[in-house]
Amino acid sequence: MKYLMILLIALLAGCVQTQTNEWAQYKVNDITIKWLGHSAFIVDGEKTIYFDPFVLDANPKQADYILITHEHFDHCSPEHVKRIQTDRTRIISTFGCIEKLSGKTNSIKPTESFNYTFDSIYIVAYESYNNDKSYHPRGDGVGFLVDFNGTKIYHAGDTDNVEEFANLTQEKIDVLLVPIGGKYTMNATEAAAAVKIIKPRVVIPMHFNSAKYGITDVEADAEQFKALLGGSGIDVVILKAAA
Ligand SMILES: [Zn+2]
Repeated sequence: MKYLMILLIALLAGCVQTQTNEWAQYKVNDITIKWLGHSAFIVDGEKTIYFDPFVLDANPKQADYILITHEHFDHCSPEHVKRIQTDRTRIISTFGCIEKLSGKTNSIKPTESFNYTFDSIYIVAYESYNNDKSYHPRGDGVGFLVDFNGTKIYHAGDTDNVEEFANLTQEKIDVLLVPIGGKYTMNATEAAAAVKIIKPRVVIPMHFNSAKYGITDVEADAEQFKALLGGSGIDVVILKAAA
C-alpha cells in the first residue's frame, strides 16, 4: 500500500510537471505574449500587436498593429485580418500580402523600418528566406524586429538559418519567435543552431504541430528543441497554442 501511494504521488508529480512545461502566455516587462497557434501571436501592452494572424481566439481583441511576414495564406489571411482590423489599425507587410488587404497598409522590405514614436514602437525588417528549399525565396519575406517600449521582440517568419542572423546578435533581443517545424522552415535542430547565433534572452518556438489548422508536415518536438539549447543560457519558453 505504501509503495502504491509513493507510485501515485510520483505519477501525479509527473502530471503537474507536464502542465507547467507549457505556458499559456509569457510576460516580459509590461508586455504579454500569447501564441495563438502556427505563426500567429498577440503581443499586448499599451498597444495590441498581432503577428501573422492566421489563427485567432473566438472573440479576438482589436489590433493596433498587424505585422505579416509574407504573403502565404497561412500568414497573410485577409479573412482573419478583417476580424481584428479597425479604421486605425496599421498593417505592415510585404508587397505581395499588402496587395490582398485594405485599410492603413504599408509595405516593407528587408532593412526598411517604421518608427511610431507616439506609441513607443519601432519596427525594422530583416531577411527571412530558405537556404536550400524553394518555398521562400530571398527578398519575398521579412522577419520583424519590434522595439516595443524598450522590449525587443523578433518574429522570424518562415526562414532557414540565414547568414543575416549574425547581424541580430548585437540587437540583444529579449524574445525571439522562431519556426521549428521543418519542411518549409528550419527544423528543431537547425533552429537551435540559429538561436545560438542570435543569442536572445528568451526563445519561443512556433510554426509546428499545425495540423489542426490544416497545415501538415510541420510536426516537431518542442521539448527536443528545448533540450538542444540546454546550457546555452537562453531560456526556452514553450507556449500552449491558445486557439
Ligand atoms: Zn510561407
